[in-house]
Amino acid sequence: MHEGAVLLNIKTRFQRELIYTYIGSILVSVNPYRMYNIYGTDMVLLYKGHALGENPPHLFAIANAAYSKLMDANHNQVIIISGESGSGKTEATKLVLRYLAAIQHTSNIAQQVCTSPLMESFGNAKTVRNDNSSRFGKYIEVFLENGVISGAITSQYLLEKSRIVFQAKDERNYHIFYEMLAGLPSQQKRAFYLQDAETYYYLNQGGDCGITGKNDAEDYRRLVAAMEILHFAAEDQASIFRVLASILHLGNIFFQRHEVLISAQEIRVVSELLQISPEGLQKAITYKVTVPLCALACFFGFRDAVAKILYSLLFHWLTEKINSQVYPHQHTLSISILDIYGFEVSDLTFNSFEQLCINYANEYLQFFFNRIIFREEQEEYSREQVLWQDIPFSDNQPCIDLVAAKPHGILRILDDQSCFPQATDHTFLQKCHYHHVHNPLYIKPKMPTPEFGIKHYAGRVTYQVCFHVIFVHLVYCQQQVSAVPPGAGGEDGEVTKHFMVILWYVSYLFLSFLLFRCNPFFVRCIKPNNLKDPRVFEDELVSHQLRHSGILETIRIRREGYPIRMQFDVFLFRYKSLVGVHQIPAASGENCVLMLSKLCPLRPGLYHVGVTKANIYQLLECKRERSRHLA
Ligand code: ATP
Ligand code: MG
Repeated sequence: MHEGAVLLNIKTRFQRELIYTYIGSILVSVNPYRMYNIYGTDMVLLYKGHALGENPPHLFAIANAAYSKLMDANHNQVIIISGESGSGKTEATKLVLRYLAAIQHTSNIAQQVCTSPLMESFGNAKTVRNDNSSRFGKYIEVFLENGVISGAITSQYLLEKSRIVFQAKDERNYHIFYEMLAGLPSQQKRAFYLQDAETYYYLNQGGDCGITGKNDAEDYRRLVAAMEILHFAAEDQASIFRVLASILHLGNIFFQRHEVLISAQEIRVVSELLQISPEGLQKAITYKVTVPLCALACFFGFRDAVAKILYSLLFHWLTEKINSQVYPHQHTLSISILDIYGFEVSDLTFNSFEQLCINYANEYLQFFFNRIIFREEQEEYSREQVLWQDIPFSDNQPCIDLVAAKPHGILRILDDQSCFPQATDHTFLQKCHYHHVHNPLYIKPKMPTPEFGIKHYAGRVTYQVCFHVIFVHLVYCQQQVSAVPPGAGGEDGEVTKHFMVILWYVSYLFLSFLLFRCNPFFVRCIKPNNLKDPRVFEDELVSHQLRHSGILETIRIRREGYPIRMQFDVFLFRYKSLVGVHQIPAASGENCVLMLSKLCPLRPGLYHVGVTKANIYQLLECKRERSRHLA
């Protein structure tokens, strides 16, 4: 097992239309960019109730394993799905949910939980990498009572807020806006003073308001149908569209230098839609802060901040609304699925606070992955009473500390600085440089530019410091304390004044707390090419992902120990014909050694007979292949 062999294996399988492969206990899934007929009822039945190795690798096997383990061990399970943007995480999440729903007899709740397009409309958008990219992290807990789905809770993390006010070339804002404008009946459209998507600054910056192959009007109808299923009242639906409309109008408010407002019309419309006074609104978006900023940046900052806050509150409200419909009566055992959007490393985009949070979250997940895989190995060896020396592995704890440790982690400094009205990009950056300049993972720029770099496990990223943007967030968020979800306040439980910064990453610490309570399964999604082409497999691109996903590290750790482990009975059954035995001997270590001794010279270290498992794989597999050929 080494990089080349793994790559070749995955590639060959991909070309044979086999997109799933096990590497140890991890499922690798390569995005086929084409629907194969492998998710039907026949497949559900094939995998239902069968242990992991019994059938060919498949996502359903993992879903089934989680289900079986929950039933057998009475323990919470989590399926962690990771991978680059466009690698298939969200599709995998939906397939796991579909499997869980399909093995149910009464699937009403399952259907509600599993098929709702609502969250996708509000939280997904077209990016250059993926036409349906999730711009938030999602943690879905599916609760089971005696094996039957009884409810679900969805938590969302780190919704990308900058997208609401800014889109890069060829990207779009969240689907919902375009779906609303394409599908809303004209009478309602008029009531909200709405026009076509191209009219709105918040929607047209990417250059193209449509997506090839996506029918926004059709998706609007699906959306409304989903709202009906989830019992959204007519006035709730109207309120949602009213808030969305007001965000669009807000984006069309422009300022001239020195506070002179030139968009009285928009101000009037927005205040009417939000049912607030025009004067109040005007005051709010021209509110002056004492940070040294050019007036224009500040004003746009405030206008945009209001838009972002409105949207994130709406998203939060929506999630809670969906949850309330399918909320479990009691917190029984659960299978959770984590679909988080991947590491953001791009020279093209502006990396700032949001990217830092996302990357930190990924860094943390990698940390969790390392710990679990390593712990699994260790536990297996001690269960099997195999001697074990500590094998070093690349631990990313130092990077976690650099970003978030007390008292001088970068986010801590930021949090601290946000208490001071005099704080600026410069003071924040100076503090970071001062505390971390000697940290090998920290990169201080050679020129005095307002940025710093971090060497993450998946690569180097440079972050631009844009303190006022965060500060603007904070000013507004302080007025929104009531909007903080329970448990997401300061680390000690109290809601801190400058809670927004904390909120962003504590929500992830909170998540990590959840993860450690569950038995995990890992699904690593891989993108075979950047062209969305089902026929192309780019070795370099895939190698890169394998390396950065920790899979190769896992392999290395395994290779240092005993990479293949086989149950005695499986072993005896598999190789019996090589020694001319037809009756399977009793499953014991002695019988395995006996069989082995007839097959090859037994050198110590080459194999180890544990309590239930043994290994001397390759040699035996070759013999077996040869004997099958001869036969
Ligand atoms: P992001 O991080 O941007 O949200 P993602 O990893 O969630 O990306 P998906 O949205 O799940 O990626 O997948 C991107 C596209 O790839 C899908 O819209 C679909 O067209 C295709 N795809 C992914 N997985 C599969 C699959 N198992 N079978 C067929 N097509 C797939
Ligand atoms: Mg996704």
